[in-house]
Amino acid sequence: ATPAATMVGTSIGAGNGILFKGGDVLERAKDVDTVVFDKTGTLTEGAMELTDVVPLNATSATDDSETAADGGTRTVSGGTEATTNRTDEATVLHAAASAESGSEHPLARAIVDGAEERGIHLTDPEDFENVPGQGVRATVGGEAVLVGNRTFVRHNGIDPSVAAEELDRLEGEGKTAMLVARGDALLGLVATADTVKGSAEEAVAALHDRDVSVHMITGDNERTAAAVAEAVGIDPANVRAGVLPEDKSAAIDDIQRDGRTAMMVGDGVNDAPALATAVVGTAIGSGTDVAIEAADITLLRDDPLDVVKAIRISDGTLRKIR
Ligand code: ADP
Ligand code: MG
Repeated sequence: ATPAATMVGTSIGAGNGILFKGGDVLERAKDVDTVVFDKTGTLTEGAMELTDVVPLNATSATDDSETAADGGTRTVSGGTEATTNRTDEATVLHAAASAESGSEHPLARAIVDGAEERGIHLTDPEDFENVPGQGVRATVGGEAVLVGNRTFVRHNGIDPSVAAEELDRLEGEGKTAMLVARGDALLGLVATADTVKGSAEEAVAALHDRDVSVHMITGDNERTAAAVAEAVGIDPANVRAGVLPEDKSAAIDDIQRDGRTAMMVGDGVNDAPALATAVVGTAIGSGTDVAIEAADITLLRDDPLDVVKAIRISDGTLRKIR
């Protein structure tokens, strides 16, 4: 394209809240034949809300319950609760939210906000550790607390199978369910729900109309991923779930190895390597700075439909500033 055409494209983009980083990306975007969306915060609002708190009442008392009993009293729901073998919702939520209060993750924010809304006073966590794509680990009131997915809990030596039925139920509802463990036993589960963006389905349909193949890649579990894919019209065969942050970019490589020209669309720190690997990386404007830096295009309106617009600006079929 001539420098003049590049300038026109760039300014049409800017008028639509679509920022192209330089002329060569404006050139490349028209060749995109595959769009890979991240799920959380990209196809969904990423504004998660705490929906469920499920205590797991340990069937038989193990050494853990004694350890817990030694833990004394904990402040929950504004009062004190004598520790017993029976776990209640407030105990699960207090442990989970206290541990998550060190994290910036949207899931963590949903849990902390949900606890505060329910009047639970949090304990400042010590030794906080975030394991991307898996969960958090912290010491809360002298006890080790884990909040995260099956893999995370298993890696920490705790068997998640007692919670299998509850996990399946919550995930079948399209929710992201997380296990909460204290000491070396599971305490319960918390779940959050997210809303699919209003224009996501239309964006997927518009891409299909252009014969662009649409994929989804997420660190979230298979059931939740399938529920979102179905809602927006993505072929289940094109969904990769449970992908660890470090494997997202390898998944893009996989797709591109077949000779495809891929655009990755994402918002998170965990999407940054994949955004850099794709022929075109597109960041959601409200996403993290790391994602925006790694990307070639930024969508200031956070609207999945702007993915189609970006491609149309590149191929010259979108010429008017609306
Ligand atoms: P996505 O790819 O959908 O943006 P992530 O890679 O950030 O999701 O997270 C993948 C999964 O790891 C989550 O669905 C959750 O099960 C778990 N996880 C990540 N961060 C946290 C956290 N702070 N607390 C609990 N679980 C977490
Ligand atoms: Mg995300």
